[in-house]
Amino acid sequence: PIYLDNAAGTRLDPRVLDAMLPYLGECYGNAASHTHVYGWRAEEAVARSRAQVAQLLNCAGEELIWTSGATESNNLALRGLIAGLAARGRRVLSPRTEHASVLAPLRDLAARGQIELGLLDVQRDGSLDLQAFAEALRPGTVLASVMWVNNETGVVQDIAAISAICRARGVLLHVDATQAVGKLAIDLSALDIAALSFSAHKLHGPQGIGALYLRREVRAHLQPQQLGGSQEQGLRAGTLPVHQIVGCAEACRLAQLALPQERERLRRLRDRLWQGLSQLPGVFLNGHASAHAPQILNVGFEQLPPLALLEKLSPALAISGGAACSSAQAQASPVLLALGRSREQALSSLRFSLGRYSSEQDVDVAIELVAQALRQLRSATAAAPA
Ligand code: PLP
Repeated sequence: PIYLDNAAGTRLDPRVLDAMLPYLGECYGNAASHTHVYGWRAEEAVARSRAQVAQLLNCAGEELIWTSGATESNNLALRGLIAGLAARGRRVLSPRTEHASVLAPLRDLAARGQIELGLLDVQRDGSLDLQAFAEALRPGTVLASVMWVNNETGVVQDIAAISAICRARGVLLHVDATQAVGKLAIDLSALDIAALSFSAHKLHGPQGIGALYLRREVRAHLQPQQLGGSQEQGLRAGTLPVHQIVGCAEACRLAQLALPQERERLRRLRDRLWQGLSQLPGVFLNGHASAHAPQILNVGFEQLPPLALLEKLSPALAISGGAACSSAQAQASPVLLALGRSREQALSSLRFSLGRYSSEQDVDVAIELVAQALRQLRSATAAAPA
């Protein structure tokens, strides 16, 4: 099948694999072993990797904590900062359309009575109403968590404006940038972001590795959530997976090299896909007409049986109905419901997500496959007795 599910996972770039291989072979030292060359080599590789990732984000290497991915980064940032800020206040704010790895820990903390959680509605185009956001940052609010690019709709939040609002109110901002890193230009030196999460496997790096950026000034507020050795300045204990770290860094380096051209190429592919799909009957866009990431397109189809289109397409087209972790259940996406879609509309929506290996031909074939499937389903629906 044609793979258009890059928001769920991307193919490992062969150059990333090449960079990783020595660390799965002869370079097996522990980066925390300071008494021999095996350890020194591993430590050097980690330091080099840290600098490469820092370059993509324009931050300092020491502001990065390696994690197993965005889920862990989100949990560490939220749980760690909330614990560290408890004496200042307990109110935490987040949009309803965040990823489960942000909402679940926040709901858990709220259920335990450790925070007062404010969940914000979004507008019909998926964007946050900035005035409503500013008003919701009432006294006692210590932390806000807002994703940069929504993983289901591709909607881009105005993080520069949001970070300025947070700064003015003295509220720390955590950003889940899992779908933004490597796709949009990110300059952490120009933004007041306290913490930022991402995973390497969304940008053609390996699974199971990511990082949490933690602004230097904020470090003292983070209570570590995993204790043990003194790795990562005591903020995240555990032996560093050097091969994964090297892979993550190489993925970031390659993304940075190609970023402006690749962003334009993906944008053109997405436009082509929308151009083709928008000609089909009963199609609507889930998301924002202009504030969207280049790689994600979410479209709905009116009056189809739930999941019918996705099921019909799945032998030929690898796409999803929403987030990968929830796509197996016939549950309407909370993100699409938050955009004002009905349950039926949400269950007949498709997410297409493009990557480095997506081509014009993939897009053209996808359009044709959707058109065919739609014709078959609509004629079946029309033929069925009322
Ligand atoms: N946040 C967003 C926006 C995502 O798209 C994902 C990936 O599905 C995650 C967090 C979680 O990433 P991981 O599964 O790598 O921990």
